[in-house]
Amino acid sequence: MSSTLLTADHEAFRISVRTLLDEQVVPALPGWEEQGRIPGHAWKTLGAAGLLGLAHPIADGGTGHDLLSSVVAAEELGRTGFSGFRAAVGVHTWMATHYLATAAAPALRHRYLGPAIRGERVAALAVTEPDAGSDLTALATTATPDGDGFRLHGTKTMVTNALCGGFAVIAARTGPATRGPTGISLFVTDLDAPGLTVTPQPLAAWHCAGTAQLGLDGVPLPADALIGRAGRGFHYLMKGFQQERVIAAALAVGGVDRCLHDTLDHVQRRALFGGRAGDLQSVRHALAGMHTELSAARLLVHDAAHRLARGDLPVAECSAAKLYATELACRVADRCLHLHGSAGFVADSSIARAHREARAAALAAGPSEVMLDLIAGTLFSTTP
Ligand SMILES: Cc1cc2nc3c(=O)[nH]c(=O)nc-3n(C[C@H](O)[C@H](O)[C@H](O)COP(=O)(O)OP(=O)(O)OC[C@H]3O[C@@H](n4cnc5c(N)ncnc54)[C@H](O)[C@@H]3O)c2cc1C
Repeated sequence: MSSTLLTADHEAFRISVRTLLDEQVVPALPGWEEQGRIPGHAWKTLGAAGLLGLAHPIADGGTGHDLLSSVVAAEELGRTGFSGFRAAVGVHTWMATHYLATAAAPALRHRYLGPAIRGERVAALAVTEPDAGSDLTALATTATPDGDGFRLHGTKTMVTNALCGGFAVIAARTGPATRGPTGISLFVTDLDAPGLTVTPQPLAAWHCAGTAQLGLDGVPLPADALIGRAGRGFHYLMKGFQQERVIAAALAVGGVDRCLHDTLDHVQRRALFGGRAGDLQSVRHALAGMHTELSAARLLVHDAAHRLARGDLPVAECSAAKLYATELACRVADRCLHLHGSAGFVADSSIARAHREARAAALAAGPSEVMLDLIAGTLFSTTP
């Protein structure tokens, strides 16, 4: 079922992204999973194709597409069936660079955003800490004044793309508070800066996401490494998280689409009791039910993106899209593995990979309970 919010141009764009990914990315993905990152030349290919600049204005070197085009591209990234790849490109294109594009001074944008859009430098977003994940008011990393600039101290964890050796947008405390949302600022730092150590963090899945922990031991930052205004970091993050969650939801929708496609293909070929598995009513109903839920997830995502692009701050809609699409991906991966029988349990099958990878998307960009809290917050703020 296609969304009524998409135009013929969006659908033509979808085909062009799918063709690019099928031809230039999908065959290489198993190798990148083994390498634990996307190689530099592949980032440049994606940049040259315009995929990394979709969300950014033409003046910054981007393509100036609308947000629904980004959603379409994210669905196609998800449809590759490799969550590490889709997350790496997602963090780079719609999450880390978003803060540069929306809040950084022109000189900082020129230094980092242009090369990122061209795929010459890879962007990471370093917010989470060992003791601050869902609760970002517990952030402990500090950026203390030092001469004209700052010095960073702390530890960041689960940093996607950190092994790609580019730069990170990093959240740190500049204000006097040691807890709470005030006094947090965003900076950009090169990942080879003095005092910064990058320690690989091998994950249970999402292998090519290049994930690492960052040790920050007095990392020097020039004054102009500050993104936007000092102390406004929490505000920038809460705004940026809405786009992050819509994109995370679109990536998950693409993953569900891929799972259903592979399962439909399997059950139509699998001989069973003199017919095909796909002849059995219970199998047909299972797929029809999941297809219906996929359509619902897609509509939630497109509606949230449409509202966000209009200039609203649709926290409940973005949270609902992220909650529904990522939890659906877990349910669908589980059911589809079952429908594959033992073939779905073979380690390098696409359905086994989807099953291993699905849960992480319901954690990253805020776990499902946080999404429920945010939705409940808007419900309970309205007087009966
Ligand atoms: C694959 C992957 C990639 C990631 N990439 C990045 C990245 O690039 N940059 C980055 O900064 N971070 C990244 N993260 C971190 C991610 O943002 C955090 O995992 C997320 O914010 C949750 O924090 P946490 O893992 O510390 O879990 P915790 O905050 O410790 O929460 C653990 C569990 O507690 C429960 N819980 C939490 N809050 C509530 C609540 N309000 N009500 C009820 N129950 C609750 C939930 O079950 C939750 O899963 C990534 C995570 C994953 C899994």
